[in-house]
Parts: sequence; C-alpha cells; structure tokens
Amino acid sequence: MSEAVQPVPRRFAVIGGGITGLAAAHRLIELSREAGRPAQIVQFEGSDRVGGVAGTIRVGDYLVETGADSFITNKPACVRLTERLGITDRLIKTEEAYRGSLVLRNGRPLPVPEGFMLLSPAKTWPILTSSIFSPWGKARMGLEFFIPKRTVSQSDDESLADFVRRRFGREALDRLVQPLVGGIYTSDPERLSLKATLPRFIEQEQRFGSLIRASRHEVSSKSQQAPNAKGGGARYSLFATFKDGMSDLFNTLATRVESSGQLRKQTRIDRIQHLSNGDVELFSQTGSCGEFDGVILAVPAFRAAALLESTSSPNSAAISTALKEIEYASTAIVLSGHKLSDIEHPLDSFGLVIPAIERRRVLAVSFSSRKFAGRAPEGRVILRTFVGGAMQPEQLEHPDERIEAIVRDELRSMLGVKGTPDFMIIARHNHSMPQYYVGHLERVRRINELLRGIPGIELAGNAYTGVGLPDCIDSAEQAAARLFQFAQASSQPQPH
Ligand SMILES: Cc1cc2nc3c(=O)[nH]c(=O)nc-3n(C[C@H](O)[C@H](O)[C@H](O)COP(=O)(O)OP(=O)(O)OC[C@H]3O[C@@H](n4cnc5c(N)ncnc54)[C@H](O)[C@@H]3O)c2cc1C
Repeated sequence: MSEAVQPVPRRFAVIGGGITGLAAAHRLIELSREAGRPAQIVQFEGSDRVGGVAGTIRVGDYLVETGADSFITNKPACVRLTERLGITDRLIKTEEAYRGSLVLRNGRPLPVPEGFMLLSPAKTWPILTSSIFSPWGKARMGLEFFIPKRTVSQSDDESLADFVRRRFGREALDRLVQPLVGGIYTSDPERLSLKATLPRFIEQEQRFGSLIRASRHEVSSKSQQAPNAKGGGARYSLFATFKDGMSDLFNTLATRVESSGQLRKQTRIDRIQHLSNGDVELFSQTGSCGEFDGVILAVPAFRAAALLESTSSPNSAAISTALKEIEYASTAIVLSGHKLSDIEHPLDSFGLVIPAIERRRVLAVSFSSRKFAGRAPEGRVILRTFVGGAMQPEQLEHPDERIEAIVRDELRSMLGVKGTPDFMIIARHNHSMPQYYVGHLERVRRINELLRGIPGIELAGNAYTGVGLPDCIDSAEQAAARLFQFAQASSQPQPH
C-alpha cells in the first residue's frame, strides 16, 4: 500500500508590517487555504509594532489617530478585506452633521463650495456665491466649458498645476485645488503627475471635452438611475473608519497572521540572497532568518531599493536606481485635545485646508472628533494639524517644542483656539509620503519590467499605484496572487 504523498509546504516571507505587509501576509494565507496547499508564512517587521505609518493611541478618554484616520470606500479593497475578516460591524461612518470642509482665504476659514470634489464642480450656484474666488476667478472657471481638449498621446504626462491652470485658471489652482490635493499627497502640484494621481480627469477631458460637462453628465445619469434616492443610499459613507480606530484593522490582521504563520517584530531584514535552488534567503544583522520560495517587499521604495541591490541579480542595480528615483516627503501631525469652549470657531465641518499662497506655517487642520463620533469626551475636540510636506519641509527642521508653539500660534490666529490644550503630541512621519511626480507611471512600468528578471520577489506598497489604504491593500493582494502563482508554477513537474 502506498501512503498519500503530502505536498511540501510553500514558504513565503513578507518584509514590512504596515497595512501593505499585513494585507499581503493575510492574502497568502487565504490563497493557500483556497488551494488546499499548506504554506508557512513569516512576516518580518523592523519595529516593535504593526501598522507602519498609521496607528491609534488613547490619551485619557481621547481616541487619537497618529497617521491615517479613515479610508475611502469607493475603492473597494479595504471594505472587501473588512468583510472577509468579518469585522464590518466595527466600521463607523462620518458624522452627517459636520460634512464639508473649510478653506482659508485672507486668514479666514470659508466653506469649500458644496459639490466641489477636487476638480469636479458638479454644482454652479455654490461656486458663484462663494467668496473663495474673485469675480474674475469665477468667470475664468466658467470658461472651462469652452476650453478645447488637449490631444493626449499615450506617453504624455502633465502636472496637476498645468492641467488646472489650463482648464480652470490660476485662481482655482491656488485657492482650492492646491490645498485640497496637497492635503492628500502632501505634494507640490507643479510636479505632481495628473496621470498617476487623478487619471479620471484626463478621461473626462478626453470623453466630454470639459470637466464641467462631465460632472453634469454624471449628476444627470445618477439621478436617472435613482430618481428617488436621497444622497446617502450607499451602505458606507465615502469615508469610513473603525469604532476603536484604524489599529483595530492592523491588530485583527496581525492576529490572523500569527494564528496561521509567524509575525516576527523587531526583525529588520538587511539582505536577500538568491540560492542555487531558486529559493531566497533573508538576513538580519544577527544572521539568517530563513529560506523561502518567495518574498514580498512591503516597505518604502528606498528600502526596497537597498534590499533588491543586495540580491546581486543582473537587474538589481537598475531596479534599485529606479526605485530610489521615487522621492518621499516628510510630514508631522500635531495632535491636540481642547475644550470646545476654548475655541471661537464653531468647527462645523471636517477640517480646514490652507492654500500655500496664504503663507501660513501649517498645511491643514483636521477636526478629527467632528468627522467621527466617539473620539473625544463630551465638550472636547481633537485637532490634527499637518505640518511640513513637500511644500514646507523647512518647518520639520524645528525641534518638537518649536513646532508645538508654531501650531498653537496658527490655531489661535485661524480658529481662535485659546487656553491650554488637554494634550499636545507630535507624530513625525519622516520620508513617509511617496511623491508621484510627472513620469511616475513610466517609472513604475520600468520597475515592474526589471522585477520580472528577479524571480521570487514581489513589490507592494504605497510607492507605486496609489497612496491610500485601499490602494495599499490592493497592491498587497495583487503581489500575493503573483507570488502564489509563481510558486505554483515552479512546483509543476517540468517536461523533459
Ligand atoms: C500622515 C499621514 C496620514 C495619512 N492619512 C491617510 C488617510 O487618512 N487615509 C488613507 O487611506 N491613507 C492615509 N495615508 C496613507 C497611508 O497611511 C499609507 O500609504 C500606508 O499606511 C502605507 O502603508 P505601507 O504598509 O505601505 O507602508 P508603511 O506604513 O511605511 O509600513 C512599512 C513597514 O515596513 C517596516 N520596514 C521597513 N523596512 C524594513 C525592513 N528592512 N525589515 C523589516 N521591516 C521593515 C517599517 O517599520 C514599517 O512598519 C496617510 C499617510 C500619512 C503619512
């Protein structure tokens, strides 16, 4: 009688314990289960905690996010992951009462016109009546309807600033688009690639000849589809978070990884070596961390560059150079808790964005506990003030106490924040935001092409096809699928 042959377990490693690494390790576990193939999955994280640049802390009765505070739901990867983890009941929506944002003009916070989604002026009246723009600025924005579309060849990339100036005029860029988009990418719009960040606006220009026309078309086709729908028919609001903070997602994923594999914190991988049998061996400063069929590098591009360089494969120098070309900006969030009675402004929105032309020393202020319920005690509020980014890197050279003093000054002047805050903490995020500059997609295409020559290694994370949490999860799950397929293919018997 012959005994059934047990398949040899696949061994996969994931380097990095931010959302990308966690989602990649979790997906590898799911794929192994689905295929009925046992696998050993080991995740390595250099620090003593998971979550990377994001994390939730409690300060007394305050619940404070030190990085990402929510995720967008119209990119489905995060919602789907939450569903597969069975934790959708822990998701919360944004607070209806405070929806909307403010933008600073001449030192005063004014409402962002209703219906203005980045570059889509879906409604005309709120823009016409807004005091954010001068009469000339409004007239120039209206001309967008008549500006001919640009002929786009496949390789053509344009900066966000050039695009907005060309279609809507300088005022729209300076007064609204720069601060709104700057808030997402902490970036300089003069260098930001439209193709890599907001490709739907290129599509709209090409298809409708005008973004105003495209927005109107969208509004009318939505109302035809659901004539009786009253806005929030969707199951989730556009942004969602977890009742107990974003760390709930990271900790749930980490628990799943630990229950089916290993999560090795405080283990920084320094070197990767290809072995003659096709496996990869990982090394930390203390020596070998094991041999694997494949590895996902879920770390920032400049760290992936160093790891790939260490593989000494024929493409390693070229891919490392291309990865290092992806620049990173640093930012800091000053987190503070205040009595509402100490603040003159009613804080009746989600936050305030600040155009660079206002020449302030902070980029934006998020009214964290107005956005999501249950973050601050009764009568209190959490403010998250963003400093630095690609436009004001010099602000981050100050020591913490100086940054705190600057933020206190700016909050007093813009929002009338007085008194002593209950707490003030600085979360510095050095080299945390990849900059998708003009030519980014071409660079990523080249990186992927070079990576094909380095078997058993995949890249994932916020440096390539999107910076938001859903983009990171999507990138992680795609990398996991590619690696799994690679391992399956290399275990098939080869024809003689
Ligand atoms: C201030 C800020 C606010 C943001 N707000 C939002 C938001 O509200 N919503 C949203 O969707 N997105 C937001 N983002 C973007 C989003 O948070 C990030 O893109 C995402 O968290 C990046 O995750 P990651 O796992 O790819 O990288 P990281 O979080 O950088 O994780 C990488 C991990 O790898 C580890 N590591 C590095 N090198 C090694 C090594 N050699 N060996 C072992 N481990 C290593 C690091 O310690 C780290 O834990 C924000 C980003 C920042 C900086």
